[in-house]
Amino acid sequence: MSKGKLFAISGASGVGKSTVLAKVMAARKDLRFSVSATTRPPRPGEAEGVNYFFVTREKFEDMIAHGAFLEYDAHEGNYYGTPLAQLEEKQKKSHVILDIEPNGAFNLRRKMPDAVLIFIMPPSREELERRLRSRGDTSEEQIAMRLHRAQWEMDQSVHYDYVVVNDQVDACADEILRIIAEKAQDLDGGI
Ligand code: 5GP
Repeated sequence: MSKGKLFAISGASGVGKSTVLAKVMAARKDLRFSVSATTRPPRPGEAEGVNYFFVTREKFEDMIAHGAFLEYDAHEGNYYGTPLAQLEEKQKKSHVILDIEPNGAFNLRRKMPDAVLIFIMPPSREELERRLRSRGDTSEEQIAMRLHRAQWEMDQSVHYDYVVVNDQVDACADEILRIIAEKAQDLDGGI
């Protein structure tokens, strides 16, 4: 039986990943989003089971102990992980997009070597900083921390299968859709 292809998308905070992902998801009905579990609190507008499964640290650690995660990582003081059962269920009928950072993407690749890793780059470091500042709710300390983390993430992009620059949202989404169209065809007989 064919299984859907996995596409891991990474990109630093402020790169515009959610906007690009929303466009990509809207363009292909055979794509589903892997909903991660996290211990960070929901942001305004985020919904349980849609953006994340919001769980306590205790629950997350219990899930780790029970082998419930395909991969997980701790960053910025919180846990983030991909629950295996929901991913496998989605993969039976669809291709699946995962929004995960580089450690998670590399762990995913180790376990599922067919996964396609795509990194979204900002046009420049200056533009990334400008976008982070324009969010308004981010303190100087947070900006410095995010830029530091962003630099590390961008350094990891050399290990990705594809690097796509988000200079213009539509063009970036189109480029990702082109990659998906090419790789999703690899399925024998389609789904
Ligand atoms: P945010 O808190 O802004 O939603 O996400 C912070 C970071 O966590 C992003 O880089 C996102 O890609 C990453 N992330 C979200 N879910 C997962 C996951 O299940 N596993 C890993 N390793 N990273 C994740």
